[in-house]
Amino acid sequence: MVSSMMALNTTTSHDINDDSLHEACGVFGVWAPQLDVSRLTFFGLQALQHRGQESAGIAVTDGTNLVCKKGLGLAREVFDDKTIAQLQGVAAIGHVRYSTSGKDPEISFQMAHPLIGSNGNRSFALAHNGTLTNVDDLIKELKRLPRDTNSNQQVSDTQLATDLLAQYYSETQDMPTAIMRLMGIMRGAYSMVVLTNKALYVLRDYSGIRPLCVGRLSEGSGWVVASETCALDLIRAEPLREVEPGELLRIDSKGICTLVASDAQSQPIARQAHCLFEYVYFARPDSVIDGANVYRAREAMGRRLFHEAPVDADIVIGVPDSGIPAAIGYARESGVTYSEGLVKNRYIDRTFIQPTQDLREQGIRIKLNPLHYAVRNRRIIVVDDSIVRGSTSKQLIQMLRDAGAAEVHLRITSPAIIWPCFLGINTDTQEQLIAATHTLEETREYIGADSLAYLSLEGLKSCIYAEHPSYCSACFDGDYPISRPKPLHENAFLPGYMPTWQE
Ligand code: SF4
Repeated sequence: MVSSMMALNTTTSHDINDDSLHEACGVFGVWAPQLDVSRLTFFGLQALQHRGQESAGIAVTDGTNLVCKKGLGLAREVFDDKTIAQLQGVAAIGHVRYSTSGKDPEISFQMAHPLIGSNGNRSFALAHNGTLTNVDDLIKELKRLPRDTNSNQQVSDTQLATDLLAQYYSETQDMPTAIMRLMGIMRGAYSMVVLTNKALYVLRDYSGIRPLCVGRLSEGSGWVVASETCALDLIRAEPLREVEPGELLRIDSKGICTLVASDAQSQPIARQAHCLFEYVYFARPDSVIDGANVYRAREAMGRRLFHEAPVDADIVIGVPDSGIPAAIGYARESGVTYSEGLVKNRYIDRTFIQPTQDLREQGIRIKLNPLHYAVRNRRIIVVDDSIVRGSTSKQLIQMLRDAGAAEVHLRITSPAIIWPCFLGINTDTQEQLIAATHTLEETREYIGADSLAYLSLEGLKSCIYAEHPSYCSACFDGDYPISRPKPLHENAFLPGYMPTWQE
């Protein structure tokens, strides 16, 4: 049985000036019958808020009823004390979302997670971080199966997964079997949690593209899963390990157990391919992914960047937030003074409305302001995480020049992004990527820097120190760890570019 507390929160907004990479979600799950699971989930979502600010949702079960509440906006905008107090139960899942499509509030709300499905008698809630790349196959499979559809709804990949799982659950009357069937057909990136009235299920795609870790609450009071360890830290859960690529876990009153191990024979051929950008940009610096501390990795990227691209300058500054540890690393290795040079307005960190072209061009000034006294008449090394379209870097450099900088040398802690990403990031065509259409010198000229350098792919990988150093680097080298997406955007690749796929 399911009841819904879904409410359309009208505090949504539109992201028009989109020149940065955006992660598409964070997931959280907890099984802890003695604790306030909805409050723990709310805290977990707050720790994961950097992974998505467009909607937040929590589904909770008391063992008999499943209740879901979600809305548009930050977790703290969707949930107040009273709402959380109403969500009592033994287990919960939660989700924060950044949408790469569906900016209309109605559509955004439809796409907010968790999604609810049912086998007719028993309900479940599902939340997902990643992107499924074989939507055509999923639609075909759904059409093969008898089902109810609501043709007015814009169907997301997660909605398709939910509908398929509902069908498999109806057919098998057994959730683990239904999930295994779903894992057999889904392709692409998924770190997923599924909640029934009896158990919490946790599954991760065969390549382990998006992060997902599991932890234990103190004194054996329960189990937690989350996209990042920072969510475990906040609720004082002990991080235990990563959910392995291709693994399916069940957590219930008997404890935690692996239903499908990562080395199961039935798995399709896949190579582990953890997203490199998690370390460069997406993850919080206080998280540990696959044994690698994100802050330490970023600091090492700055050190390596100095060796690959040294330059004479007076100060090194970082672009908040992800550029800061790298700028500190660059400064330590080079001996050039580290300085704060940009102040971030933390209260408009989320997407916001920019109604006119003028305001759109102001984009970066709304988020960042230079420390004039620090940069005036100085030769500055600016360390940033990436360049997508180049317009943000251009504005940033102009802003520093307006503040009196004598020289601006841009150093990027990732290689040039040349290829689109189909695995949960908002870059699905090559034409939007400046490095795909411009040479290094043309890019430098466009953004107005005195010099520009990217970290090499080899250099980036050498900075991470993960336990399983097998990465997705497709946006840098076109070597995709997935089969060709279905459908594939007709303008995904520019003429002459030949990606490689895992067929
Ligand atoms: S293509 Fe790039 S951003 Fe996308 S998953 Fe791979 S490394 Fe991450």
